[in-house]
Amino acid sequence: MDFGTHNSNARTEPITKITIHHMACVASGADCARAHYRKNSASANYYIGTNGDICGGVSEDRRAWTSGSSWNDQRAITFEVSNSEAKEPWPVSDAAYRSAIRLAADICKRYGITPHYTGDKNGTLTLHCMYQATQCPGTTWKQRHASGKVERDILEAMAITPPAPQPEPVSDEEKIWNYLSARIHNDYGVAGLMGNLYAESTLHSNNLQNTFEKRLGMTDAEYTAAVDDGSYPEDKFIRDGAGYGLAQWTFWSRKENLYARKGNKSIGDLDMQLDFLWWELSTGYKGTLQALQTAVSVYGASTAVLTQFERPADQSEAMKQKRASYGQVYFDRYSQSGAFRPYIARIMADELNVRKGPGISYDIVQTVRKGEAFTIVQESGEWGKLKSGVGWICLTYTMKVRLV
Ligand SMILES: [Zn+2]
Repeated sequence: MDFGTHNSNARTEPITKITIHHMACVASGADCARAHYRKNSASANYYIGTNGDICGGVSEDRRAWTSGSSWNDQRAITFEVSNSEAKEPWPVSDAAYRSAIRLAADICKRYGITPHYTGDKNGTLTLHCMYQATQCPGTTWKQRHASGKVERDILEAMAITPPAPQPEPVSDEEKIWNYLSARIHNDYGVAGLMGNLYAESTLHSNNLQNTFEKRLGMTDAEYTAAVDDGSYPEDKFIRDGAGYGLAQWTFWSRKENLYARKGNKSIGDLDMQLDFLWWELSTGYKGTLQALQTAVSVYGASTAVLTQFERPADQSEAMKQKRASYGQVYFDRYSQSGAFRPYIARIMADELNVRKGPGISYDIVQTVRKGEAFTIVQESGEWGKLKSGVGWICLTYTMKVRLV
């Protein structure tokens, strides 16, 4: 249908959205367009018939009168889609649905739009009912938007594979926990030791004692590089009295032993320092190691490290408490003992997306409904992992029923 300038205005905004409507009748695309043309008060950019036929209406470069909102129609390309039955739940034929998705994919590609439904007008997929008290686009289309189906199907039609969830890189902290845990076999002991390492170096293996950064005029990285390339000679490194590395090794014989392990690695290499730390504990500090391996509290383990291994000037009760509190953070974060217990959660929202990972940036894999209950086996922030392994749900919209 050639609408010309009939039932339309010049666009004042770039095209950034797609709005799918339902025609609330069963008809061909051309008949839907004719009905609007005659009505003199309505229009759309495209009309899709129940057999999947697509009829052009108002040209894309003009604003159609479709959504009861100038704000939306100025930004959106709008479709009217025929229903397959003119009653609840306002179903659409597979052919009409497929045509709408293919057309939307084409528009998204041409205008650089990422299809995304947010449930409000901020998304790139918007609905008539966001702007006016109307049933449009009807239950079927509304559910397919809300469950993420429309978004997913458009992406698939664009032949864009949604990005896979990116695993977090292994942090130094996690690396240190795993290394020590495999050797100490006691979570209190590992946490107590790590709390002290944190106090010494904030777990940065290239850490140069702060007072020496000033005195030598070098940053952590500069000192490390100078030792590595020999411009800061070995004997100076050993004898300069500067605390360095994960445990802030200071005394000359300890720094000498650390340097001896360097080989062709950096003096700041984490793996090398962990091996050195372990060597120290299992040779010259057997008593400390035994205290870690048999610890029954973070405080006990932490205090053993403070008084036997690190031995700083301040070994007051306040310092013991402080270091133990650092260790407790690692215990809470990594220890599997006494931590999370699976529980059953009931869905409180009408519909809730299940996503591949704990966050809205992960793909939607399914939808669950109000009243249904699921066992949560893992938590990550506000997200809970379903026991079935299907995915994660946002726990904000659930109620904890009981532990399992
Ligand atoms: Zn509508």
